[in-house]
Amino acid sequence: MIIIKDLFANLAILISLLFLYTQVSNRSPLTPRSSYQIKLLAGISGGFLGNVLMQYSINIGTTIVDLRLIPIILLAYFGGLVPSIISMLLIIGGRFLIGINISSYASTVLVITVTLFSVWIARTHLSKQMKRMIMLTFSNISASFLFLYLIKDINFLLKLIPIYWIVSYFSGYIAFNTVTFLRKSQELFNKYKAESMIDPLTGLNNVRKFDEVFNQSLADLEKKKQKLSLLYIDIDFFKKVNDTYGHAEGDVVLKELGHILRSCTRTFDIVSRNGGEEFTVLLLDCPLDQAVQIGERIRETVEDHSFILTQGGTINLTVSIGVSCYSDTTKDAGLIINDADKALYEAKRSGRNMLCVAHY
Ligand code: GH3
Ligand code: MG
Ligand code: MG
Repeated sequence: MIIIKDLFANLAILISLLFLYTQVSNRSPLTPRSSYQIKLLAGISGGFLGNVLMQYSINIGTTIVDLRLIPIILLAYFGGLVPSIISMLLIIGGRFLIGINISSYASTVLVITVTLFSVWIARTHLSKQMKRMIMLTFSNISASFLFLYLIKDINFLLKLIPIYWIVSYFSGYIAFNTVTFLRKSQELFNKYKAESMIDPLTGLNNVRKFDEVFNQSLADLEKKKQKLSLLYIDIDFFKKVNDTYGHAEGDVVLKELGHILRSCTRTFDIVSRNGGEEFTVLLLDCPLDQAVQIGERIRETVEDHSFILTQGGTINLTVSIGVSCYSDTTKDAGLIINDADKALYEAKRSGRNMLCVAHY
């Protein structure tokens, strides 16, 4: 009965620390190609987990058994050599802090053997399930040899070894599945989060992301005394493109315009599709004259560009642009969207294919 109680406690520790680690590392999950920084963090976390598990051993008679090998196996499986070696060293170190005796030397040999074997298996082309099974089985066999070496009481061994195998397989199974599940949900969460910010047609920021970045930029302005400019861009007579060539061709044109906007702006500018055929470029740390320059470059590039249609042939288009700038056209940064929109309206009214600056 005591075994079940201890096992439950160990599993709870294992799962909660695995959960914590996946939360901390959610932006960059561990893989064999991760940076050394991430591998180091993973290795230290694994070493910590192994040491915690060592403190909460499962009592089987007078012998203590723990799940310290599981973090190493997980790290070898998910991250390869570097993180598993780091956690291996920390676990060996922790074991010697508990006591230096024949048992700690023997367990050092066990930990090293299991680490190297698991790293090797992780590199093979076996199926995922097979790798997990072989790693756990090998660690069970190795641990059994350790018990045979350290414990001379046959009757006790006959009880200990089967229980150890069951506990280890069960915990390993739970640990692998917990990590896989957490990584999968984390990955989906990150994917959906990124997608919810991106316009699927052009790959530019959508209006939600634009709002987020714009608000952040406003907040930053209070700390940094910088200028902030905005281009509001609208295609001229776009309805005609749809009416003449169809909506699908209109979409192709929008996509191509997205490329042009990216190529005409600086890498750190925020290019977004704010609505159907309306785009914005938020120019960070950019005064009015430079914003006008970038806007003119966009206007001219579009004018000179032949948009290729999928049905064959090309068409030419123009855009109208409104520009506003904090603090060159307004002293209230919160107004630059409205001001650029008004300037755009003026560009439309004044004949299109034109850039207008917001009035101060
Ligand atoms: P103006 O020069 O005054 O801007 O004329 P316009 O025809 O571009 O302006 P208007 O706002 O009247 O029309 C915008 C058109 O954009 C209406 C709609 O057919 C088209 N549009 C909006 N969203 C999409 C889209 O996602 N795909 C395509 N193909 N067309 C779209
Ligand atoms: Mg429009
Ligand atoms: Mg338009």
